[in-house]
Amino acid sequence: MNTSVIGYPRIGRNRELKFASEKYFKGEIGEAALKITASSIRKENWLVQKEAGITYISSNDFSFYDNVLDTAVLFNIIPGRYKALNLPPLDTYFAMARGYQGAKGNVKALPMKKWFNTNYHYIVPQIDDDTKIELTGTKPVDEFLEAKAQGVDTKVVITGPFTFLKLAVFTGKKTATDVSQKLTDEYIKLISVLGSKGAELIEFDEPYLVKDLSVEDVELFTKIYEQILGNKAGTKILLQTYFGDIRDIYEKVISMDFDAVGLDFIEGKKTPELINKFGFPEGKKLFAGVVNGKNIWRNNYEKTLEVLQAISAYDVVVNTSCSLLHVPYTLESETKLKDEYRKHFAFAKEKLPELIKIASLAKNEDEAELEFNRKLHESREGAEDEKVQERVRNIRESDYTRLPAFSEREKIQKERFNLPLFPTTTIGSFPQTTDVRKNRKAYKHGDITRDQYVEFNRKKIEECIRLQEEIGLDVLVHGEFERNDMVEYFGENLNGYVFTENAWVQSYGTRNVKPPIIWGDVSRRSPITVEWSKYAQSLTGKPVKGMLTGPVTILNWSFPREDISIKESILQIALAISDEVLDLEANGISIIQIDEAALREKLPLRKSDWYSEYLDFAIPAFRLVHSGVKPETQIHTHMCYSEFTDIIPAIDAMDADVITFEASRSDLQILDSLKENNFKTEVGPGVYDIHSPRVPSVDEIVNALNDMRKRIDDSKLWVNPDCGLKTRGEEETKASLINLVKAAAVIRG
Ligand code: GLN
Ligand code: ZN
Repeated sequence: MNTSVIGYPRIGRNRELKFASEKYFKGEIGEAALKITASSIRKENWLVQKEAGITYISSNDFSFYDNVLDTAVLFNIIPGRYKALNLPPLDTYFAMARGYQGAKGNVKALPMKKWFNTNYHYIVPQIDDDTKIELTGTKPVDEFLEAKAQGVDTKVVITGPFTFLKLAVFTGKKTATDVSQKLTDEYIKLISVLGSKGAELIEFDEPYLVKDLSVEDVELFTKIYEQILGNKAGTKILLQTYFGDIRDIYEKVISMDFDAVGLDFIEGKKTPELINKFGFPEGKKLFAGVVNGKNIWRNNYEKTLEVLQAISAYDVVVNTSCSLLHVPYTLESETKLKDEYRKHFAFAKEKLPELIKIASLAKNEDEAELEFNRKLHESREGAEDEKVQERVRNIRESDYTRLPAFSEREKIQKERFNLPLFPTTTIGSFPQTTDVRKNRKAYKHGDITRDQYVEFNRKKIEECIRLQEEIGLDVLVHGEFERNDMVEYFGENLNGYVFTENAWVQSYGTRNVKPPIIWGDVSRRSPITVEWSKYAQSLTGKPVKGMLTGPVTILNWSFPREDISIKESILQIALAISDEVLDLEANGISIIQIDEAALREKLPLRKSDWYSEYLDFAIPAFRLVHSGVKPETQIHTHMCYSEFTDIIPAIDAMDADVITFEASRSDLQILDSLKENNFKTEVGPGVYDIHSPRVPSVDEIVNALNDMRKRIDDSKLWVNPDCGLKTRGEEETKASLINLVKAAAVIRG
């Protein structure tokens, strides 16, 4: 049986691409040096896969920034403002990705969005009415030939035209249907060039097929691919899908002239059922995604073999479920990971022998191997905690409901806090200056004592409180100087977590994240934030918000377990955080913010699953965290994006007292729908963008607030920036907050 990999991580084993790119951006190295780094990453990736014995290795899975952006540039889909900069091609590419500010002009980057249900972000292509779609690039061809020169015959991977069009933004009158013919023609040209260079297999990635498709979508897809499949130029075409099943188009797909179809058996709930019901055509290859490209656990061979058994009548290729871009490079870079953990994990490199093993086991059962793998999955040292499991079992329905109801609490809290109309506050973190990072690092490395570490942070907290008092904010924060990444911070303080040293995964461009691993049952060891919050509150008569991260976000930014459900894991985390909430309350903290920055992240790709497979437990888990507090304790939550227009009732059902969120001024739609939905929770839509160092003027904030007041009752409106301030400098932060407080005063007046 043959094996295949959809794509390999490309940041470099030691994040070489990140470091080289950043040097390039700073002008410290030139294009040639950056390209040398890139080609050595590609070379290592190809050779690693070849040595492992993978049959279908991809080329063109590399990217300097993002594959969707690569595809746009390949077809000359470059908005005029970037062309007008007259930069060399690589710099035009980076200008689209990151914006450009310099001698040649000043343009913002194209927008960036989350890649389906992952934490990877793609650059949103922009098609204008005057965009001349044309195959002008050569990247797929170059990289195919580059691999060939190294003795590796690759399949060429490219973002498919359907997904590309569905993700693109159209600025003029034209729509996807209008430009699809031209784009198809240019893809056909690409196929012909690739064919002439000896490419045998071209993989078209079409993850958009796993979403809910309309009749028009199916028509568009059919129209594009009938032509592509009629012009194969001697190549074979693999239609690759991932992140779910393709129930809306499966029958159509198998009736078309694809040479191979790639289906996801990990997230594709209905994939087996579809094959069972409609069969799979003879003479075509079925690329079966059975090795999870998104998680880091060893494959469960027995389960996988069962899946393969059911499709053994077909010509199956053992495949990853999606690109391995979503997992770290290799366990070899983990020097401190204990063997009892290590043996359970498989990062990208370790997934290669798994693919090979599965292919061989499917042919010849090897009882010893299976037994070894079975044992591995049965025994996970220290993962089980009977007490935690019992606590989850004992959750009662009433534990999900905070009493009294919101309207009652709102009255009690207004009386207690006696805040002015339009109360001002911030989202939690204050600038993480070099000294703050240094202090944390020194403590982590054992260079300073715990006392020294605490002493320093207390000084920072005091400065932060004084600053906020001086500025005149109403509800203060302690500044979060003890945290770097919030999920890492809570993970480190919870039982059940495992941390890695170098398990980086690309989030976007040169930014990588290192998600912690949920190893076992989660519980709180001891109070986590109480001492900091208590200290901060002791310094001032104004309320200081306690600052926590919610269970959904903690889970969504970790590698989750596969032996228990996501729901069960979230509930465990919720109970742990609820302990912290109650401790904060008992220690005199009257306002507690529980951030759910990543709530939307794992919302299923199909709308029909939203309430039956996610929100049905994510929202109750949040409620569980705060249901035990007194009516006079005020619960805040914060969400990073205002992208919840379509789930407003669910957000209201979190039953927080106040929610702050990111809302750029152009995004009034969210405010309209809050009004339409009779949103009961008090709201603080961000009045300025903290992602840029720009200081907003008082007028600007007043205008933003006036727009908000047209849609939100004065008694429910808070005034705050749109996210934490940790990435900002001290000066601009102070200036911005002064203007924010002034603006609130203007409105009050
Ligand atoms: N409280 C956090 C902060 O201010 C929230 C971060 C976030 O929303 N990503 O940094
Ligand atoms: Zn945020």
